[in-house]
Amino acid sequence: MAVKSTGAKIKPRELKNQNIREILDFSSSSLATSGSLKIDISEQPLINSYGGLIYFQDLWVVITNNLSSIRKGGLFHITNCEDCCDIIKKDKFEIFPVLKFYSTRAKLLEAIVKYELQACPKCLRQVDWDGFRDAEYWARQPVLERFNIQQYFETADSFEIERTFNLVSDNFFKKLPDDHLRMLQKLKKKANWKCGTCNLNFSGYKSMFHIVPDEDNANKYMDSLEYGKKSCLQCLRVERPDIPLIEDEINFLSHLH
Ligand SMILES: [Zn+2]
Ligand SMILES: [Zn+2]
Repeated sequence: MAVKSTGAKIKPRELKNQNIREILDFSSSSLATSGSLKIDISEQPLINSYGGLIYFQDLWVVITNNLSSIRKGGLFHITNCEDCCDIIKKDKFEIFPVLKFYSTRAKLLEAIVKYELQACPKCLRQVDWDGFRDAEYWARQPVLERFNIQQYFETADSFEIERTFNLVSDNFFKKLPDDHLRMLQKLKKKANWKCGTCNLNFSGYKSMFHIVPDEDNANKYMDSLEYGKKSCLQCLRVERPDIPLIEDEINFLSHLH
Protein backbone atom coordinates (compact mmCIF):
# COMPACT_ATOMS: atom_id res chain seq x y z
CA MET A 1 0.00 0.00 0.00
CA ALA A 2 1.46 3.31 -1.01
CA VAL A 3 1.14 6.35 1.16
CA LYS A 4 1.38 9.53 -0.85
CA SER A 5 4.44 11.46 0.11
CA THR A 6 4.22 14.92 -1.34
CA GLY A 7 3.44 18.11 0.51
CA ALA A 8 4.45 19.48 3.87
CA LYS A 9 5.65 17.06 6.49
CA ILE A 10 3.69 16.71 9.69
CA LYS A 11 6.39 17.62 12.14
CA PRO A 12 5.27 19.63 15.14
CA ARG A 13 8.23 18.55 17.20
CA GLU A 14 11.90 18.33 16.43
CA LEU A 15 13.03 14.74 16.96
CA LYS A 16 16.64 14.03 16.25
CA ASN A 17 17.02 10.29 16.61
CA GLN A 18 17.05 8.53 13.27
CA ASN A 19 15.78 5.31 14.75
CA ILE A 20 12.40 6.65 15.71
CA ARG A 21 10.03 4.50 13.80
CA GLU A 22 7.02 6.61 14.64
CA ILE A 23 8.40 9.37 12.50
CA LEU A 24 7.49 8.06 9.11
CA ASP A 25 7.86 10.02 5.99
CA PHE A 26 4.20 10.69 5.47
CA SER A 27 2.88 14.11 4.76
CA SER A 28 -0.20 16.15 5.50
CA SER A 29 -1.33 15.50 1.95
CA SER A 30 -1.56 11.81 2.85
CA LEU A 31 -4.19 12.61 5.46
CA ALA A 32 -7.87 13.14 4.76
CA THR A 33 -9.54 16.12 6.43
CA SER A 34 -10.88 13.73 9.08
CA GLY A 35 -7.25 12.89 9.97
CA SER A 36 -7.31 9.36 8.57
CA LEU A 37 -4.63 8.19 6.17
CA LYS A 38 -5.33 8.34 2.47
CA ILE A 39 -4.25 5.01 1.16
CA ASP A 40 -3.89 3.36 -2.17
CA ILE A 41 -6.39 0.53 -2.11
CA SER A 42 -5.05 -1.07 -5.26
CA GLU A 43 -2.39 -2.75 -3.18
CA GLN A 44 -2.89 -5.18 -0.33
CA PRO A 45 -2.83 -3.17 2.94
CA LEU A 46 0.15 -3.87 5.16
CA ILE A 47 -1.86 -4.17 8.34
CA ASN A 48 -0.65 -6.31 11.21
CA SER A 49 -1.48 -6.83 14.82
CA TYR A 50 1.11 -7.34 17.53
CA GLY A 51 0.53 -7.36 21.26
CA GLY A 52 -3.13 -6.57 20.61
CA LEU A 53 -2.38 -3.30 18.80
CA ILE A 54 -2.91 -2.65 15.11
CA TYR A 55 -0.02 -1.48 12.96
CA PHE A 56 -0.12 -0.05 9.48
CA GLN A 57 3.45 -0.30 8.21
CA ASP A 58 5.26 0.87 11.35
CA LEU A 59 2.54 3.11 12.67
CA TRP A 60 0.29 2.25 15.58
CA VAL A 61 -3.24 2.85 14.32
CA VAL A 62 -6.93 2.59 15.17
CA ILE A 63 -9.33 1.50 12.44
CA THR A 64 -12.87 2.80 11.99
CA ASN A 65 -15.69 2.20 9.56
CA ASN A 66 -15.67 4.38 6.51
CA LEU A 67 -16.82 7.67 8.03
CA SER A 68 -18.50 8.95 4.89
CA SER A 69 -20.83 5.95 4.90
CA ILE A 70 -21.92 6.07 8.54
CA ARG A 71 -24.17 8.65 10.07
CA LYS A 72 -23.77 8.02 13.77
CA GLY A 73 -22.75 5.19 16.01
CA GLY A 74 -20.13 3.25 14.07
CA LEU A 75 -17.31 1.33 15.68
CA PHE A 76 -13.63 1.88 16.13
CA HIS A 77 -11.32 -1.12 16.34
CA ILE A 78 -8.28 -1.21 18.57
CA THR A 79 -7.19 -4.68 17.47
CA ASN A 80 -7.67 -6.92 14.45
CA CYS A 81 -10.93 -8.61 15.45
CA GLU A 82 -12.86 -10.49 12.77
CA ASP A 83 -15.09 -7.50 12.03
CA CYS A 84 -12.05 -5.27 11.62
CA CYS A 85 -10.49 -7.76 9.18
CA ASP A 86 -13.82 -7.86 7.38
CA ILE A 87 -14.07 -4.09 6.79
CA ILE A 88 -10.45 -4.09 5.61
CA LYS A 89 -11.22 -6.87 3.14
CA LYS A 90 -14.25 -4.99 1.87
CA ASP A 91 -12.34 -1.70 1.79
CA LYS A 92 -14.83 0.00 4.09
CA PHE A 93 -12.38 1.33 6.62
CA GLU A 94 -10.31 4.31 7.66
CA ILE A 95 -6.94 4.26 9.37
CA PHE A 96 -6.09 6.75 12.09
CA PRO A 97 -2.46 6.96 13.26
CA VAL A 98 -2.27 7.18 17.07
CA LEU A 99 0.99 9.07 17.11
CA LYS A 100 2.00 10.56 20.42
CA PHE A 101 4.03 13.37 18.90
CA TYR A 102 1.61 14.36 16.16
CA SER A 103 -1.79 15.99 15.96
CA THR A 104 -3.34 12.90 14.36
CA ARG A 105 -4.34 11.53 17.76
CA ALA A 106 -6.52 14.58 18.41
CA LYS A 107 -8.09 14.07 15.00
CA LEU A 108 -9.07 10.54 15.93
CA LEU A 109 -10.61 11.76 19.19
CA GLU A 110 -12.54 14.39 17.22
CA ALA A 111 -13.89 11.76 14.83
CA ILE A 112 -14.96 9.56 17.76
CA VAL A 113 -16.99 12.42 19.21
CA LYS A 114 -18.35 13.70 15.91
CA TYR A 115 -19.53 10.30 14.66
CA GLU A 116 -20.35 8.93 18.11
CA LEU A 117 -18.07 5.97 17.52
CA GLN A 118 -18.07 3.17 20.07
CA ALA A 119 -15.28 0.78 21.00
CA CYS A 120 -15.77 -2.56 19.25
CA PRO A 121 -16.80 -5.23 21.80
CA LYS A 122 -15.05 -7.97 19.82
CA CYS A 123 -11.79 -6.04 20.07
CA LEU A 124 -12.18 -5.55 23.83
CA ARG A 125 -12.81 -9.26 24.16
CA GLN A 126 -9.74 -10.14 22.08
CA VAL A 127 -7.39 -7.95 24.13
CA ASP A 128 -9.24 -8.80 27.37
CA TRP A 129 -9.57 -5.12 28.20
CA ASP A 130 -10.51 -4.66 31.87
CA GLY A 131 -11.24 -8.38 32.16
CA PHE A 132 -13.83 -8.26 29.38
CA ARG A 133 -12.96 -11.68 27.98
CA ASP A 134 -13.72 -13.69 31.08
CA ALA A 135 -16.50 -11.47 32.43
CA GLU A 136 -20.01 -12.85 32.59
CA TYR A 137 -22.31 -11.56 29.89
CA TRP A 138 -24.03 -9.12 32.27
CA ALA A 139 -20.69 -7.72 33.44
CA ARG A 140 -19.49 -6.88 29.95
CA GLN A 141 -21.76 -3.94 29.30
CA PRO A 142 -20.26 -1.90 32.16
CA VAL A 143 -16.73 -2.62 30.86
CA LEU A 144 -17.83 -1.45 27.45
CA GLU A 145 -19.38 1.69 28.87
CA ARG A 146 -16.34 2.34 31.06
CA PHE A 147 -13.98 2.03 28.14
CA ASN A 148 -12.10 5.26 27.73
CA ILE A 149 -9.83 5.60 24.75
CA GLN A 150 -7.57 8.09 26.54
CA GLN A 151 -6.98 5.49 29.22
CA TYR A 152 -6.24 2.98 26.51
CA PHE A 153 -3.68 5.31 24.95
CA GLU A 154 -2.20 5.94 28.38
CA THR A 155 -1.72 2.19 28.81
CA ALA A 156 -0.17 1.69 25.40
CA ASP A 157 1.99 4.82 25.26
CA SER A 158 4.83 3.58 27.46
CA PHE A 159 5.12 0.42 25.41
CA GLU A 160 4.99 2.35 22.15
CA ILE A 161 7.89 4.51 23.34
CA GLU A 162 9.86 1.35 24.07
CA ARG A 163 9.01 -0.02 20.63
CA THR A 164 9.69 3.12 18.62
CA PHE A 165 12.98 3.75 20.42
CA ASN A 166 14.09 0.17 19.94
CA LEU A 167 14.15 -0.81 23.61
CA VAL A 168 12.42 -4.05 22.61
CA SER A 169 13.51 -6.28 19.77
CA ASP A 170 11.31 -6.92 16.76
CA ASN A 171 11.39 -10.60 17.52
CA PHE A 172 10.07 -10.06 21.04
CA PHE A 173 7.50 -7.53 19.93
CA LYS A 174 6.08 -9.75 17.21
CA LYS A 175 5.48 -12.61 19.63
CA LEU A 176 3.50 -10.60 22.18
CA PRO A 177 0.05 -11.99 22.98
CA ASP A 178 -3.15 -10.04 22.28
CA ASP A 179 -3.68 -9.39 25.98
CA HIS A 180 -0.21 -7.89 26.44
CA LEU A 181 -1.51 -4.48 27.55
CA ARG A 182 -3.81 -6.05 30.10
CA MET A 183 -0.87 -7.99 31.56
CA LEU A 184 1.33 -4.92 31.55
CA GLN A 185 -1.39 -2.92 33.28
CA LYS A 186 -1.68 -5.56 36.02
CA LEU A 187 2.10 -5.60 36.53
CA LYS A 188 2.24 -1.83 36.77
CA LYS A 189 -0.51 -1.79 39.38
CA LYS A 190 1.34 -4.48 41.29
CA ALA A 191 4.47 -2.32 41.18
CA ASN A 192 2.40 0.62 42.53
CA TRP A 193 3.62 2.79 39.65
CA LYS A 194 6.86 3.25 41.57
CA CYS A 195 10.10 3.74 39.68
CA GLY A 196 12.80 1.26 40.69
CA THR A 197 15.50 3.92 40.35
CA CYS A 198 14.14 7.20 41.75
CA ASN A 199 11.37 5.62 43.87
CA LEU A 200 8.90 8.28 42.78
CA ASN A 201 5.27 7.35 42.21
CA PHE A 202 3.85 7.84 38.73
CA SER A 203 0.22 6.92 39.33
CA GLY A 204 -0.54 10.58 38.58
CA TYR A 205 0.91 10.24 35.08
CA LYS A 206 0.67 6.57 34.24
CA SER A 207 2.04 6.69 30.70
CA MET A 208 5.37 7.87 32.13
CA PHE A 209 5.77 4.62 34.03
CA HIS A 210 7.55 1.83 32.16
CA ILE A 211 8.29 -1.77 32.75
CA VAL A 212 10.93 -2.31 30.11
CA PRO A 213 10.99 -6.00 29.20
CA ASP A 214 13.98 -8.08 30.14
CA GLU A 215 13.55 -10.24 27.09
CA ASP A 216 15.37 -13.25 28.56
CA ASN A 217 12.98 -13.42 31.47
CA ALA A 218 9.87 -11.96 29.94
CA ASN A 219 8.21 -15.34 29.54
CA LYS A 220 7.59 -15.22 33.28
CA TYR A 221 5.72 -11.95 33.04
CA MET A 222 2.27 -13.42 33.52
CA ASP A 223 2.65 -13.69 37.26
CA SER A 224 5.73 -11.86 38.37
CA LEU A 225 7.64 -8.67 37.98
CA GLU A 226 10.47 -10.55 36.30
CA TYR A 227 9.09 -9.06 33.11
CA GLY A 228 11.46 -6.17 33.25
CA LYS A 229 12.88 -3.04 34.77
CA LYS A 230 10.50 -0.66 36.51
CA SER A 231 11.46 2.79 35.39
CA CYS A 232 9.93 6.21 35.00
CA LEU A 233 10.41 8.07 31.76
CA GLN A 234 12.74 10.53 33.46
CA CYS A 235 15.12 7.77 34.63
CA LEU A 236 14.83 6.05 31.26
CA ARG A 237 16.05 9.26 29.68
CA VAL A 238 19.30 9.19 31.67
CA GLU A 239 20.42 6.43 29.32
CA ARG A 240 18.25 7.50 26.40
CA PRO A 241 18.15 11.31 26.33
CA ASP A 242 16.95 11.04 22.74
CA ILE A 243 13.47 10.09 23.98
CA PRO A 244 11.61 13.41 23.93
CA LEU A 245 9.33 14.71 26.66
CA ILE A 246 6.12 16.46 25.78
CA GLU A 247 5.08 19.64 27.55
CA ASP A 248 2.61 17.93 29.92
CA GLU A 249 5.32 15.51 31.02
CA ILE A 250 7.77 18.31 31.70
CA ASN A 251 5.11 20.10 33.76
CA PHE A 252 4.32 16.97 35.71
CA LEU A 253 7.99 16.36 36.49
CA SER A 254 8.48 19.93 37.63
CA HIS A 255 5.75 19.46 40.23
CA LEU A 256 7.16 16.16 41.48
CA HIS A 257 10.22 17.74 42.97
ZN1 LIG B 1 -13.17 -4.93 16.54
ZN1 LIG C 1 12.55 7.26 38.06
